[in-house]
Amino acid sequence: MSAGVVVLGSANMDLVATAERLPGRGETVAGGTFRLVPGGKGANQAVAAARAGGAVRFAGAVGDDDLGRRVLAALAAAGVDTAAVTRAAGPTGTAHITVDAAGDNTIVVVPGANGTLTALAPAHAAAIDGADTLLLQLELPLSLVCEAAAYARARGVRVVLTPAPARPLPDGLLADVDLLVPNEHEATILAGTPDPDAAVRRLAERCDVVLTLGARGAVHAAAGAEPVAVPAFPVTAVDTTAAGDTFVGVLAAALADGTAMAGALRRATAAAALSVQRPGASDSAPTAAEIDSFLG
Ligand code: ATP
Repeated sequence: MSAGVVVLGSANMDLVATAERLPGRGETVAGGTFRLVPGGKGANQAVAAARAGGAVRFAGAVGDDDLGRRVLAALAAAGVDTAAVTRAAGPTGTAHITVDAAGDNTIVVVPGANGTLTALAPAHAAAIDGADTLLLQLELPLSLVCEAAAYARARGVRVVLTPAPARPLPDGLLADVDLLVPNEHEATILAGTPDPDAAVRRLAERCDVVLTLGARGAVHAAAGAEPVAVPAFPVTAVDTTAAGDTFVGVLAAALADGTAMAGALRRATAAAALSVQRPGASDSAPTAAEIDSFLG
């Protein structure tokens, strides 16, 4: 199967415990509930793109363990093609999350299989070959992200990058990126200026930029053009977890489908607005029918 969107990124299992309060150093506290939630920015974006109707293949790695099998099953259940996922010896990536009664948390991320992906595997390269759009984040080793972007660029595959978690990037990487989708924090770190307006203008000298601004929406700055505002839909948010991943997943799926940028941004904005009205991460991403009905 040739996929419109290939997501090369992280796949984790989140181990989420609740407790009245977070333990101090060396302390043990009694917990409340425990849940296993498939996550990782790459997998979340793949799920959002597939639920929104995109033809999506996930390229990443899981470990040879039960958590890996569960992560793959969750991707497949969302309609994501997992044929290009490789198996690494050792554990699947995990995020160990503790949430207290006020909603504050501590998170320890163990990269596991994700951390073994330092160079492009043949299965991942083959997936990119047949794709319209490659979707990348920064949760895999940077050496792989750079290699994959250059590989895709050389083959005319559109490269979309979410620069999260925020970090300065090697100079060459942005030259291989067609569309950068940072939030304010990421944009200011990347551009090296605390002013988001200046950051977006500076980054747009390198590639197309969509800066996301939470409830204030987004700004699209096409390379060399004046930035255009993309207002959010006014909704009551109950959980904004993974709003950005839903936004970029749906944006990539729409672009890969041949939708022009303005229409793709509208769909992504609608999908994110629907997702923030529900609790959960990638499981709160809407279906194509839900997006269509929201947009009327
Ligand atoms: P996260 O890290 O939680 O995934 P993010 O910081 O990457 O989020 P945001 O800028 O918060 O991404 O949100 C992405 C998009 O989601 C926004 O551009 C907007 O369209 C939509 N969105 C986010 N929060 C809201 C909200 N409260 N109401 C309506 N739309 C929202």
